[in-house]
Amino acid sequence: MATTRCTDPVIGAILASWRYDISGITPEMRRDYEQHFAECARCSARQSFHRSLDGALAVLTSLSALFFLFALAVLKHIKPLEHVAFKILGLDISDMYHMLISAGVAGLCFSVMAFALVLMATPAPSYLSGIAVERAKLIEERLPARIKSMRFR
Ligand SMILES: [Zn+2]
Repeated sequence: MATTRCTDPVIGAILASWRYDISGITPEMRRDYEQHFAECARCSARQSFHRSLDGALAVLTSLSALFFLFALAVLKHIKPLEHVAFKILGLDISDMYHMLISAGVAGLCFSVMAFALVLMATPAPSYLSGIAVERAKLIEERLPARIKSMRFR
């Protein structure tokens, strides 16, 4: 990636400042940049790298939110068992429980906020929905003919 050079360093620098995201500009302006992506291997490689980074961030933050939700659900189920567990560990039951719950809630809020920020600040939503559409097409192509005819009846 480092060895290939940008075919137009001026456009390359503009695209780099946008993190290779041209989804926010008008279609007329976009045409020149799309042409550059088609011509320039370096910029198109960087564009796909940044989009996959955005996608990974969105997936990671949503997973983090899910894990905190899971932790809260586990804590709710542990409540009947806490009597035994905390007595053996010698911990103050309600303090420990409330600390864990508030840590879980704080983590959940933080992950949801991070996820929202990723979705707002990056073109991750369009990137991820693009992937989803491609996958759906692939799956549809692989469907047996009998199921296909059932679907389009
Ligand atoms: Zn370029």
